[in-house]
Amino acid sequence: MNNYRIETKCVQGGYRPGNGEPRQIPIVQSTTFKYASSAEMGKLFDLEASGYFYSRLQNPTCDTVAAKICELEGGTAAMLTSSGQAANFFSVFNIATCGDHVVSSSALYGGTYNLFAVTMKKMGVEFTFVTPDCSEEELRAAFRPNTKAVFGETIANPALNVLDIEKFANAAHEHGVPLIIDNTFATPVHCRPFEWGADIVTHSTTKYMDGHGAAVGGCIVDSGNFDWMAHADKFPGLCTPDDSYHGITYAEKFGQAGAFITKATAQLMRDFGCTPAPQSAFILNLGLESLHVRMKRHYENALAVATYLEGHEKISWVRFPSLPSDGDYALAQKYMPNGTCGVISFGVKGGREAAERFMANLHIAAIETHVADARSCCLHPANATHRQMNDEELAAAGVSPDLIRFSCGLENSEDLIEDIANALANI
Ligand SMILES: *Cc1c(COP(=O)(O)O)cnc(C)c1O
Repeated sequence: MNNYRIETKCVQGGYRPGNGEPRQIPIVQSTTFKYASSAEMGKLFDLEASGYFYSRLQNPTCDTVAAKICELEGGTAAMLTSSGQAANFFSVFNIATCGDHVVSSSALYGGTYNLFAVTMKKMGVEFTFVTPDCSEEELRAAFRPNTKAVFGETIANPALNVLDIEKFANAAHEHGVPLIIDNTFATPVHCRPFEWGADIVTHSTTKYMDGHGAAVGGCIVDSGNFDWMAHADKFPGLCTPDDSYHGITYAEKFGQAGAFITKATAQLMRDFGCTPAPQSAFILNLGLESLHVRMKRHYENALAVATYLEGHEKISWVRFPSLPSDGDYALAQKYMPNGTCGVISFGVKGGREAAERFMANLHIAAIETHVADARSCCLHPANATHRQMNDEELAAAGVSPDLIRFSCGLENSEDLIEDIANALANI
């Protein structure tokens, strides 16, 4: 599949049915799998043979869809998780545990910020947050001897900063650690972070990949490019024997291409159980089949709406990285020349109160915490996803109190603009 273009991979990646096999991917709705002898099953438990035994760890439907996303990102191994939160948690906790440190961009999804700054802190993992536009010196200064990873979002949700992936990758590699990129908003249709030096990619597949607001899910993809053994002292979990798996050393047994995902499956999925349902993986795959078509339309609608808002007297500012006036336009052009995403943010003159009234006046876009699906929707993050943050933390995350996040769906862009014009006229 590797030589096909991204559109073909969206439609056909991950699954090659043989003679007489189903054309659509089968939903293997089974918790368990049958074996002829205990000896055969024992090999699976020892990771001596690969195969299915219990769907908490692996399931054929989920693996088929993970394989498609792996092809889309250009990776060597991938796994689905039950949510984007689980994907981001696993991606970090797989290499950074109690006593370790991680450098992260401060422009993050609210749930990810909470996971890192509050919950993982309680688990003994410390984070240093740097602004995405920090200088190389500031970025270097954030590293410590116990730093194990660098984390950022391609396009931050909801701040919409574009990450300078090469800058973050260079700093990570100088310090012998991998760069993890949450590529949810760009999707591999618009950006493939591995091509710019990222080592691990995560997704909330709940957003554009599913695309229809139908199934919560996540994915982790490994580029296979990070040489764990070259930094074995930093990554004992991958480079020394795992007592819970009969002394297997993941980086030796599964190599650079497979170690990260095998360990995340064998240890973290086994112990935390953030398992996707086969039915959800099937729904996700339906979304992936049209991802390339939908991303183009989401982007075109967002560009039309952002351009309209920019010229409107009741709008104080507009943030959309594909607008030439945007501060991250150059970065967006470099990393996403064919388009960014369908999400824009802006401020309505009159602050919080005007924002709430504007949103109540909309008829097409519904007020939802969701983004990135076929139906347009909007949200006031300071009042919703980010309400646990104080004003200082909001500012660091790039979220001002008047910010409205508007997710352009797949409707007609003129209808969207008329609806917005009408809502603005009535405040
Ligand atoms: C939504 C989102 C997440 C969390 O994903 P869930 O599927 O809701 O758990 C993580 N990162 C980004 C960028 C998101 O937009």
